[in-house]
Amino acid sequence: MPSQNPVFIPGPTNMPDVVRKACDMATLDHRSAAFGRIFTPALAGVKEVLGTTLGEVFLFPSTGTGGWEAGISNTLSSGDTVLAARFGMFSHRWIDMCQRHRLNVQVIETPWGQGAPVDRIEAALRADRDHMIKAVLVTHNETATGVKSDIAGVRRALDAVRHPALLFVDGVSSIGSMEFRMDAWGVDIAVAGSQKGFMLPAGLAILGASPKALAAMEAATLPRTFFDFRDMRKAYATGGYPYTPAVGLLNGLALSSRMLLDEGMETVWARHYRIAEGVRRAVAAWGLKPCAASPDLYSDTVTAVVVPEGCNGTDLVKLAAEKYDVAFGVGLGEVAGKVFRIGHLGSLTDVLMLAGLATAEMCMADLGWPVKLGSGVAAAQDYYRTHGLGAVKAAA
Ligand SMILES: *Cc1c(COP(=O)(O)O)cnc(C)c1O
Repeated sequence: MPSQNPVFIPGPTNMPDVVRKACDMATLDHRSAAFGRIFTPALAGVKEVLGTTLGEVFLFPSTGTGGWEAGISNTLSSGDTVLAARFGMFSHRWIDMCQRHRLNVQVIETPWGQGAPVDRIEAALRADRDHMIKAVLVTHNETATGVKSDIAGVRRALDAVRHPALLFVDGVSSIGSMEFRMDAWGVDIAVAGSQKGFMLPAGLAILGASPKALAAMEAATLPRTFFDFRDMRKAYATGGYPYTPAVGLLNGLALSSRMLLDEGMETVWARHYRIAEGVRRAVAAWGLKPCAASPDLYSDTVTAVVVPEGCNGTDLVKLAAEKYDVAFGVGLGEVAGKVFRIGHLGSLTDVLMLAGLATAEMCMADLGWPVKLGSGVAAAQDYYRTHGLGAVKAAA
């Protein structure tokens, strides 16, 4: 019997059945009016999820990585300087991409487990009197370490020194799950992918671009063809698409963004906080710690659990897959082996999360790690009993 276990990786995430079904469509002529009936609500839904009324949304057949490339190539020119902090695998890969595009990346090296250092970013911007820095890149939620960064703080830093650089935010593992406010935070380029908070299969790069980013687009000279915002814009204006769209995914996106908005973004963010907090209580009960250095940095979509001395996180991930048919995330880069990651975003409930925590405990016991069976589950149960949706309803 094929397993129906949910995955506990920080993307791709579990898909609600209705969303899966929405992606499964008969062939449709994307040059007909029927396409517009799918595409228009998808664009509008994403716009609202991003928290923008000023910006424009672009949807490419791609992934989050393609979203980075679209953001960069549409707004920057060869040799431009960008400022970025490196504190995990995803912030690292974004920097690497900029370098491959021959951008001059001013890197702020930051220990893994920390977030984007707002004070050092502000100092770098202050020192840049000639405004050579054209963009500041921030990974909102570093999926490798389970660390969230203070985007509003970075915006304040830019404003405090009156620096005109664009603010690019990788929200691939935060948008649609954790608080994200594109307009309020003055984000110029927001990047997401379909397979995380939007609960879809991989296959779409989802971008928001501010009026300022769109103005920069005219002067930008980095080559782009497939990813050209201008072609997208032109086609969208007439209800079309510049090439063949991934219609099924877009239909799924129209539905999943509607589901998020119907739940209410604040409620979605609160649900992710609650589920994450149960995981954190479990981790503490195991006597272990998250990789994130302090509570203000805790991600509500992924927890990287630092494994006990002499243990290997990858062993747990392998065992969980082979013995229990459950997926957790391995440690990446600098923290390979030192952590295992529990993804807790997308379509997830308290009850499903308890199953994931129970599985992690079985694996730890199997591997002889010094963790008491049931300890983490009990801590999470206690939290969910009193903070879950049911508890709130029962008290009302
Ligand atoms: C998953 C992820 C990416 C990469 O997205 P792909 O869809 O795999 O290309 C980029 N940044 C962050 C923070 C991610 O979590």
